[in-house]
Amino acid sequence: MRSTDVVVIGSGFGGLSAAKQLAKSKVPTTLISATPEHLFQPLLYQVATGVLDPAEIAPPIADVLSDYETIDVVQGYVTALDAQAQVLTYETADGPQQIGYKKLIVAAGAAQGYFGHDEWADRTFSLKSLDDATTLRAHLYDCVHAPLNDQAAHTFVVVGGGATGVEIAGQIRELHDRFYTEVPATVYLVEGAGDLLPVYGGRLSDFARVTLEEAGIQVLTNAFVTDIADDVVTVSGADGEQQITSRTVVWSAGVKATPLAAVIAEATGCDTDRAGRLLINPDLTVGGRADVFAIGDMTSLRGYPGQSPVAMQQGRHAADMIRGKTVTGTAFRYLDKGSMAVVNRHNAVVDAPFGVKLTGFLGWLTWLGVHLFYLVGFRNRVAAVVSWFRSFAGSDRPGFDQLTLRSVSKASKIAPSKSSSPTISSSR
Ligand SMILES: Cc1cc2nc3c(=O)[nH]c(=O)nc-3n(C[C@H](O)[C@H](O)[C@H](O)COP(=O)(O)OP(=O)(O)OC[C@H]3O[C@@H](n4cnc5c(N)ncnc54)[C@H](O)[C@@H]3O)c2cc1C
Repeated sequence: MRSTDVVVIGSGFGGLSAAKQLAKSKVPTTLISATPEHLFQPLLYQVATGVLDPAEIAPPIADVLSDYETIDVVQGYVTALDAQAQVLTYETADGPQQIGYKKLIVAAGAAQGYFGHDEWADRTFSLKSLDDATTLRAHLYDCVHAPLNDQAAHTFVVVGGGATGVEIAGQIRELHDRFYTEVPATVYLVEGAGDLLPVYGGRLSDFARVTLEEAGIQVLTNAFVTDIADDVVTVSGADGEQQITSRTVVWSAGVKATPLAAVIAEATGCDTDRAGRLLINPDLTVGGRADVFAIGDMTSLRGYPGQSPVAMQQGRHAADMIRGKTVTGTAFRYLDKGSMAVVNRHNAVVDAPFGVKLTGFLGWLTWLGVHLFYLVGFRNRVAAVVSWFRSFAGSDRPGFDQLTLRSVSKASKIAPSKSSSPTISSSR
């Protein structure tokens, strides 16, 4: 059995920042991840709507870390932890493997949650992985090429009015308004709270709502999806129940921890919250173990949001304690540098520190700068800039190129008109 000083699980924001920080002190580290890429999840919606190519947001993690000689990258799915023996078991293409460690950092992220309706996973599209985004992109491509009287194909329901819901709804609308201009579309955005972007609130939430409504999106707040059947979505709100004929439900309403959280909880005696996230100690250790850390979306600590800066800062904090730059047992404190969400082209909201709130074009420029800064890899940044220029200055959708080439004959059969509208029946 192989062994190393530190094993990091996960190649997302938390795992990557932890591994890089450990490399500063040349700590022998093995990063094990189920997926071969480092995925920039905040831009998944742009892959799904053809703005960006998948490769631009998902460089192979082995390439990202190739300059760090003390980091070994392994693709594998961790299935078991023997915390006492300090041994992990993971599945690989060559069968199960084991690895021993002195310290363990777990950053396995989150999965989509369906509020007790797990059966909806098969009836909806989610945006958690690269596969999710390319699956949705292929589906959207089929929808825009469906017969124009196929109302279910041209009606889209996005569930969840947080940043992801706002962004994907805005882009589906824009896809039709600026690229497939002759294809009709009705887009609904359903949110259970009274506002879109509820964590922002006030002026920023109002801006998002007004901007999306002006773009033609039907925003339903204080509304809940109560049933999803073949081509029919039932939404309940203050005005009663309505049924929307739609073949596309994008689910961005809830999260739960990935299955590994339960394995770690069991092995370390750590409690979990209702979403299955690990209730970690203030110093990011897990249960009664000083040698096991958990960070990022799979954890819950002081109500910190499930956002990439939290995962990255926690990754650095855990690594600094391991490499002796921070005293063992030091409580983690999140430095909130603000949040932002794109509403649609040239419009974003930014909630920055010291009460600074930006909307519109200034917000969008801020969003652009920050995302370029954090996008991993120089080539990806250049490619993303080119794609953004084509999409936002022009009206192109570079990500649909491959699909278009595959289906030229299918696309050429479209006879566009704006005649059809979706069927909505209401019962109160
Ligand atoms: C659509 C979307 C939009 C978002 N937008 C924003 C935004 O605008 N701003 C923002 O700050 N945050 C945003 N987030 C949240 C942000 O992406 C997460 O907070 C961040 O990715 C969490 O990092 P993490 O390291 O905890 O997990 P992740 O980045 O999810 O990484 C988890 C890693 O663990 C691996 N893994 C899982 N299980 C196993 C296993 N059993 N064995 C081995 N490996 C495993 C996965 O393969 C993956 O590599 C968004 C998230 C999504 C889904």
